[in-house]
Amino acid sequence: MNNSFIKENKNGVVYFRCTEISTPNGFSTRLGGASVQPHLKSMNLGKNLGDDPVLVEENYRRMGQAIGFNEKNIVFTNQIHSNTVKYVVEKDIGKTYDCDGFVTDKKDVVLAVRTADCVPILLYTKGVVGAVHAGWRGTAASIQANAVKEMVKLGAKPQEIKVAIGACIHKCCYEVGTDFCDTLYELLGREFASRHIEKRGASVYCDLVSLNREMLVMAGVKEENIFCSDDCTCCNSDLYFSHRASKGKRGVMSAFISL
Ligand SMILES: [Zn+2]
Repeated sequence: MNNSFIKENKNGVVYFRCTEISTPNGFSTRLGGASVQPHLKSMNLGKNLGDDPVLVEENYRRMGQAIGFNEKNIVFTNQIHSNTVKYVVEKDIGKTYDCDGFVTDKKDVVLAVRTADCVPILLYTKGVVGAVHAGWRGTAASIQANAVKEMVKLGAKPQEIKVAIGACIHKCCYEVGTDFCDTLYELLGREFASRHIEKRGASVYCDLVSLNREMLVMAGVKEENIFCSDDCTCCNSDLYFSHRASKGKRGVMSAFISL
Protein backbone atom coordinates (compact mmCIF):
# COMPACT_ATOMS: atom_id res chain seq x y z
CA MET A 1 0.00 0.00 0.00
CA ASN A 2 1.15 3.51 -0.78
CA ASN A 3 1.31 5.87 2.19
CA SER A 4 2.46 8.87 0.18
CA PHE A 5 -1.03 9.65 -1.11
CA ILE A 6 -3.91 10.24 1.28
CA LYS A 7 -7.49 10.18 0.07
CA GLU A 8 -9.10 13.28 1.56
CA ASN A 9 -12.82 13.94 1.76
CA LYS A 10 -13.79 17.53 2.59
CA ASN A 11 -17.57 18.01 2.46
CA GLY A 12 -17.82 15.37 -0.24
CA VAL A 13 -14.94 16.73 -2.31
CA VAL A 14 -12.67 13.70 -2.70
CA TYR A 15 -9.08 14.35 -3.69
CA PHE A 16 -5.63 12.88 -3.15
CA ARG A 17 -2.93 14.78 -1.28
CA CYS A 18 0.73 13.84 -1.39
CA THR A 19 1.85 13.77 2.23
CA GLU A 20 5.51 14.13 1.26
CA ILE A 21 4.85 17.65 -0.01
CA SER A 22 4.50 20.13 2.83
CA THR A 23 2.55 22.77 0.97
CA PRO A 24 -1.10 22.88 -0.23
CA ASN A 25 -1.42 20.27 -2.97
CA GLY A 26 -4.06 17.97 -4.36
CA PHE A 27 -5.17 15.80 -7.25
CA SER A 28 -8.91 16.02 -7.85
CA THR A 29 -11.11 13.03 -8.58
CA ARG A 30 -14.48 13.15 -10.31
CA LEU A 31 -16.30 13.27 -6.95
CA GLY A 32 -17.74 16.19 -5.02
CA GLY A 33 -18.49 18.64 -7.80
CA ALA A 34 -21.60 20.44 -9.04
CA SER A 35 -21.61 19.32 -12.69
CA VAL A 36 -24.75 17.41 -13.65
CA GLN A 37 -24.33 15.98 -17.15
CA PRO A 38 -23.71 12.23 -16.69
CA HIS A 39 -20.28 12.17 -18.39
CA LEU A 40 -19.15 15.33 -16.53
CA LYS A 41 -20.37 14.21 -13.12
CA SER A 42 -19.44 15.75 -10.98
CA MET A 43 -16.10 17.47 -10.43
CA ASN A 44 -15.46 18.56 -14.00
CA LEU A 45 -12.73 21.19 -14.13
CA GLY A 46 -12.74 21.63 -17.92
CA LYS A 47 -14.07 24.90 -19.32
CA ASN A 48 -14.39 23.78 -22.94
CA LEU A 49 -16.24 20.49 -22.58
CA GLY A 50 -19.80 21.75 -22.89
CA ASP A 51 -20.33 22.18 -19.17
CA ASP A 52 -22.17 25.13 -17.62
CA PRO A 53 -19.41 27.70 -16.83
CA VAL A 54 -21.14 28.57 -13.54
CA LEU A 55 -20.86 24.94 -12.42
CA VAL A 56 -17.20 24.69 -13.45
CA GLU A 57 -16.46 27.87 -11.51
CA GLU A 58 -18.24 26.39 -8.50
CA ASN A 59 -16.10 23.25 -8.86
CA TYR A 60 -12.90 25.30 -8.75
CA ARG A 61 -14.23 27.11 -5.67
CA ARG A 62 -14.89 23.77 -3.96
CA MET A 63 -11.41 22.46 -4.82
CA GLY A 64 -9.86 25.64 -3.39
CA GLN A 65 -11.86 25.33 -0.22
CA ALA A 66 -10.95 21.65 0.17
CA ILE A 67 -7.21 21.91 -0.56
CA GLY A 68 -6.72 25.35 0.95
CA PHE A 69 -6.10 27.92 -1.76
CA ASN A 70 -7.95 30.88 -3.26
CA GLU A 71 -9.36 29.76 -6.61
CA LYS A 72 -9.11 33.38 -7.84
CA ASN A 73 -5.30 32.96 -7.75
CA ILE A 74 -5.02 30.09 -10.23
CA VAL A 75 -2.94 30.37 -13.40
CA PHE A 76 -4.32 28.16 -16.18
CA THR A 77 -2.69 26.17 -18.96
CA ASN A 78 -4.11 25.92 -22.44
CA GLN A 79 -2.52 22.50 -22.81
CA ILE A 80 -1.00 21.79 -26.19
CA HIS A 81 1.05 18.61 -25.53
CA SER A 82 4.24 20.69 -25.61
CA ASN A 83 7.33 20.51 -23.39
CA THR A 84 6.98 24.17 -22.40
CA VAL A 85 7.13 25.05 -18.70
CA LYS A 86 6.50 28.70 -17.91
CA TYR A 87 7.61 30.72 -14.90
CA VAL A 88 4.58 32.59 -13.57
CA VAL A 89 4.20 35.36 -11.00
CA GLU A 90 1.40 37.44 -9.44
CA LYS A 91 0.58 39.34 -12.64
CA ASP A 92 -0.22 36.02 -14.36
CA ILE A 93 -3.00 35.13 -11.92
CA GLY A 94 -6.27 34.39 -13.70
CA LYS A 95 -4.58 34.19 -17.10
CA THR A 96 -4.28 31.20 -19.45
CA TYR A 97 -1.10 30.31 -21.31
CA ASP A 98 -0.22 27.98 -24.19
CA CYS A 99 2.03 25.61 -22.28
CA ASP A 100 1.88 22.36 -20.28
CA GLY A 101 3.59 23.30 -17.07
CA PHE A 102 4.29 26.10 -14.63
CA VAL A 103 6.77 26.92 -11.91
CA THR A 104 6.56 29.72 -9.38
CA ASP A 105 8.31 31.05 -6.31
CA LYS A 106 5.46 33.41 -5.46
CA LYS A 107 3.32 32.57 -2.48
CA ASP A 108 -0.02 33.79 -3.84
CA VAL A 109 0.16 31.98 -7.17
CA VAL A 110 -1.75 28.68 -7.53
CA LEU A 111 -0.58 26.31 -10.27
CA ALA A 112 -3.03 23.96 -11.99
CA VAL A 113 -2.79 21.33 -14.74
CA ARG A 114 -5.66 19.24 -16.10
CA THR A 115 -5.66 15.55 -16.96
CA ALA A 116 -7.94 12.62 -17.82
CA ASP A 117 -5.41 9.73 -18.29
CA CYS A 118 -2.34 11.90 -18.93
CA VAL A 119 0.24 12.17 -16.15
CA PRO A 120 -0.19 14.97 -13.59
CA ILE A 121 3.10 15.85 -11.90
CA LEU A 122 3.56 18.21 -8.94
CA LEU A 123 7.01 19.32 -7.83
CA TYR A 124 8.08 20.93 -4.60
CA THR A 125 11.13 22.23 -2.86
CA LYS A 126 11.52 24.95 -0.27
CA GLY A 127 10.40 28.20 -1.92
CA VAL A 128 9.61 26.81 -5.37
CA VAL A 129 6.75 24.71 -6.77
CA GLY A 130 5.89 23.28 -10.17
CA ALA A 131 3.01 21.55 -11.95
CA VAL A 132 3.18 19.59 -15.19
CA HIS A 133 0.74 17.96 -17.59
CA ALA A 134 2.67 15.11 -19.18
CA GLY A 135 0.92 13.37 -22.02
CA TRP A 136 3.07 10.95 -23.96
CA ARG A 137 4.30 13.67 -26.30
CA GLY A 138 5.24 15.98 -23.44
CA THR A 139 6.77 13.06 -21.56
CA ALA A 140 8.93 12.04 -24.52
CA ALA A 141 9.90 15.68 -25.13
CA SER A 142 11.23 15.92 -21.53
CA ILE A 143 8.66 18.26 -20.01
CA GLN A 144 9.39 16.78 -16.55
CA ALA A 145 13.08 17.61 -16.92
CA ASN A 146 12.21 21.09 -18.18
CA ALA A 147 10.22 21.69 -14.99
CA VAL A 148 13.27 20.71 -12.92
CA LYS A 149 15.43 23.08 -15.01
CA GLU A 150 13.02 25.97 -14.48
CA MET A 151 12.98 25.29 -10.74
CA VAL A 152 16.80 25.27 -10.66
CA LYS A 153 16.74 28.74 -12.28
CA LEU A 154 14.77 29.85 -9.22
CA GLY A 155 17.35 28.43 -6.82
CA ALA A 156 16.09 24.86 -6.36
CA LYS A 157 18.51 21.95 -5.97
CA PRO A 158 17.36 18.91 -7.99
CA GLN A 159 18.37 16.48 -5.23
CA GLU A 160 16.03 18.29 -2.83
CA ILE A 161 12.98 18.39 -5.12
CA LYS A 162 10.07 16.16 -4.15
CA VAL A 163 7.77 14.95 -6.90
CA ALA A 164 4.23 13.60 -6.75
CA ILE A 165 2.88 11.72 -9.76
CA GLY A 166 -0.89 11.44 -9.53
CA ALA A 167 -3.28 8.86 -10.91
CA CYS A 168 -3.01 8.42 -14.67
CA ILE A 169 -3.44 5.63 -17.20
CA HIS A 170 -1.11 2.78 -16.24
CA LYS A 171 0.54 0.11 -18.34
CA CYS A 172 -2.36 -2.27 -17.62
CA CYS A 173 -4.52 -0.17 -19.96
CA TYR A 174 -2.23 2.07 -21.99
CA GLU A 175 -2.07 0.19 -25.25
CA VAL A 176 -0.05 2.00 -27.87
CA GLY A 177 0.60 1.66 -31.60
CA THR A 178 3.79 1.06 -33.53
CA ASP A 179 3.94 4.73 -34.57
CA PHE A 180 3.96 5.62 -30.88
CA CYS A 181 6.88 3.26 -30.21
CA ASP A 182 8.80 4.51 -33.24
CA THR A 183 8.48 8.12 -32.08
CA LEU A 184 9.54 7.17 -28.57
CA TYR A 185 12.57 5.23 -29.84
CA GLU A 186 13.55 8.13 -32.05
CA LEU A 187 13.29 10.73 -29.28
CA LEU A 188 14.70 8.77 -26.36
CA GLY A 189 16.77 6.00 -27.91
CA ARG A 190 15.57 2.43 -28.35
CA GLU A 191 17.32 0.97 -25.32
CA PHE A 192 16.03 3.60 -22.94
CA ALA A 193 12.49 3.75 -24.31
CA SER A 194 12.04 -0.02 -24.59
CA ARG A 195 12.46 -0.37 -20.83
CA HIS A 196 9.05 1.27 -20.55
CA ILE A 197 7.34 -0.65 -23.36
CA GLU A 198 5.75 -4.01 -22.68
CA LYS A 199 4.57 -6.56 -25.24
CA ARG A 200 1.58 -8.69 -24.29
CA GLY A 201 0.47 -11.00 -27.05
CA ALA A 202 0.01 -8.97 -30.20
CA SER A 203 -0.40 -5.74 -28.24
CA VAL A 204 2.09 -3.20 -26.94
CA TYR A 205 1.69 -1.18 -23.74
CA CYS A 206 3.61 1.81 -22.39
CA ASP A 207 4.39 2.64 -18.77
CA LEU A 208 4.19 6.43 -18.62
CA VAL A 209 4.77 6.43 -14.85
CA SER A 210 8.10 4.59 -14.95
CA LEU A 211 9.14 6.61 -17.98
CA ASN A 212 8.53 9.92 -16.21
CA ARG A 213 10.17 8.57 -13.08
CA GLU A 214 13.34 7.57 -14.90
CA MET A 215 13.50 10.87 -16.79
CA LEU A 216 13.14 12.78 -13.51
CA VAL A 217 16.01 10.76 -12.02
CA MET A 218 18.10 11.63 -15.07
CA ALA A 219 17.25 15.29 -14.41
CA GLY A 220 18.77 14.97 -10.94
CA VAL A 221 15.75 14.15 -8.77
CA LYS A 222 16.41 11.40 -6.23
CA GLU A 223 14.50 8.19 -6.84
CA GLU A 224 13.36 8.12 -3.20
CA ASN A 225 11.90 11.62 -3.59
CA ILE A 226 9.46 10.55 -6.31
CA PHE A 227 6.06 9.42 -5.09
CA CYS A 228 3.56 7.78 -7.42
CA SER A 229 -0.14 7.09 -7.05
CA ASP A 230 -0.99 3.39 -7.40
CA ASP A 231 -4.20 4.14 -9.28
CA CYS A 232 -4.85 3.66 -12.96
CA THR A 233 -7.49 6.16 -14.13
CA CYS A 234 -8.78 3.78 -16.80
CA CYS A 235 -9.23 0.90 -14.32
CA ASN A 236 -10.99 3.21 -11.85
CA SER A 237 -13.27 5.34 -14.01
CA ASP A 238 -15.88 5.62 -11.25
CA LEU A 239 -13.37 7.62 -9.25
CA TYR A 240 -11.42 9.32 -12.05
CA PHE A 241 -12.23 10.79 -15.45
CA SER A 242 -10.59 8.55 -18.04
CA HIS A 243 -10.32 9.45 -21.72
CA ARG A 244 -9.85 5.83 -22.74
CA ALA A 245 -12.47 4.29 -20.48
CA SER A 246 -15.08 6.83 -21.64
CA LYS A 247 -13.95 6.78 -25.29
CA GLY A 248 -13.36 10.52 -25.04
CA LYS A 249 -16.71 11.54 -23.57
CA ARG A 250 -15.60 12.79 -20.18
CA GLY A 251 -14.81 15.68 -17.88
CA VAL A 252 -11.34 16.56 -16.71
CA MET A 253 -9.54 16.58 -13.37
CA SER A 254 -6.90 18.95 -12.10
CA ALA A 255 -3.79 18.86 -9.95
CA PHE A 256 -3.08 21.93 -7.83
CA ILE A 257 -0.09 23.22 -5.89
CA SER A 258 0.91 26.48 -4.24
CA LEU A 259 3.52 27.60 -1.75
ZN1 LIG B 1 -5.54 0.14 -15.91
